[in-house]
Amino acid sequence: MKPVWLALGSNLADPLQQVQNALDALAAIPQTRVVTVSSFYRTPPYGPQDQPDYLNAVVELATALQPDALLDHTQRVEQEQGRVRKDHRWGPRTLDLDILLFDRQTLTSDRLTVPHYDMHNRAFMLVPLLEIAPAITLPNGTPVASLLAPLDRTQIRPW
Ligand code: ATP
Ligand code: MG
Ligand code: MG
Repeated sequence: MKPVWLALGSNLADPLQQVQNALDALAAIPQTRVVTVSSFYRTPPYGPQDQPDYLNAVVELATALQPDALLDHTQRVEQEQGRVRKDHRWGPRTLDLDILLFDRQTLTSDRLTVPHYDMHNRAFMLVPLLEIAPAITLPNGTPVASLLAPLDRTQIRPW
């Protein structure tokens, strides 16, 4: 079993219920269990501002699946919870599940970039990640805490 950190986000159709359903669905993925769940945070939208605030959280999983197989499941869970993919990025969504870190692996494919390509710019990912894994580092050894240091975290509030 390898440790994986997933970022959860929702700003439509009762975000608290979406995230609770997602945690149940993640716990039901084969060869996978939920290890730790962060607090739930209320955060302003990233990018387009004309949409509701987000609920963001991070969950640590332990999985025996390969990264692609885990992504198949997380995308299935997004679909089952009514995710509609739009042309434009960062629009409102019922559920977003992004793989932040997969063990100590660095992956680049059409489907998967790990570590998440933009986590260093997103306090809404880093704050919950550091809550449950304060000493975590990127595969290259950079402490994740050093990524958060220059970011504005004043808008990251309890849900
Ligand atoms: P962002 O990736 O900037 O947070 P988003 O989460 O809204 O935007 P999605 O529509 O959820 O983007 O996903 C777009 C594509 O990103 C997916 O088809 C997926 O294959 C790809 N992808 C690449 N790396 C990852 C990752 N680490 N976790 C989840 N999806 C990824
Ligand atoms: Mg995302
Ligand atoms: Mg996504």
